[in-house]
Amino acid sequence: MNLPDHVQIREVGPRDGLQNEPEVIATADKIALIDCLSASGLSRIEVTSFVRADVIPQLADAAEVLGGVTRRNGVDFGVLIPNRRGLEDALRLRDRFDEVSVFLSASQTHNQKNVNRTIEQSLDDLTDVVADAGAEGLRCVAVIATSFGCPYEGRVAPEAVFSVAERLAQAGCVEIGFGDTTGMANPAQVAEFFRAAPDRLPNVQLTAHFHNTRGQGPANVLAALQAGCRSFESSFGELGGCPVPPGSTGNVATEDVVSMLHEMGVDTGIDLDALVACSRKAQETLGRPLGSHVLRAGPVVWNG
Ligand code: ZN
Repeated sequence: MNLPDHVQIREVGPRDGLQNEPEVIATADKIALIDCLSASGLSRIEVTSFVRADVIPQLADAAEVLGGVTRRNGVDFGVLIPNRRGLEDALRLRDRFDEVSVFLSASQTHNQKNVNRTIEQSLDDLTDVVADAGAEGLRCVAVIATSFGCPYEGRVAPEAVFSVAERLAQAGCVEIGFGDTTGMANPAQVAEFFRAAPDRLPNVQLTAHFHNTRGQGPANVLAALQAGCRSFESSFGELGGCPVPPGSTGNVATEDVVSMLHEMGVDTGIDLDALVACSRKAQETLGRPLGSHVLRAGPVVWNG
């Protein structure tokens, strides 16, 4: 296998995960979980999202969480920004984070259901948000949901995804994440996508964001890796999902991805035992079992 020495993993569980779990978790518990993640060797964590509290009550305490977490050298914090208002709210805590993510969907129907806008409207809005965030010295990441399939429209042509991505890169996004939001991607499709992407998007960091809705998350990570992708987003404990449609649970678990990578000799900089301890803590906080395999089985031990 043609494998790299190192890949980058961005932990999105505190945002993508907790946003989509049914419970509202106490602010102090969120801060404790993020501090735990910060100490596990992760270099990037998406901490929260500045969304409207009436839309996503799970993240209504974004400012308290961002203000309360411990800043650590070598750990970049990101926040998800849905619109200009969200950016303004986040900027009150400008010294607490390093990067912003903006998002839209590659399919019209999913974008309408998720943010009540056409793709064109979203691109117009986000172009302004990215310009303002860039002027503040923030690194801008865009995540394109339903990049590999839409539960309403079916197949999404890579060409449609690439043209949206090009617009976001022109707007100033230095990294683009491609989300398999409802777990429809397969490894052959993923390999083809990530082989084609660098030609269309030179000088952009390309990131894969897989959900394990149908158990194909790690297989898709491996396919993307072999096709040249070196940057991944995942969620500790397999927390998360997508609000539409119902049943779209589960980002691929960070510890499952890290275990697979480390066993193959690909470094992530993450201490797997410390990461699993974070997921155990999340499981205790939520009071129910989480989906992650390595959390249940424990990391592989070869000498025991
Ligand atoms: Zn996701």
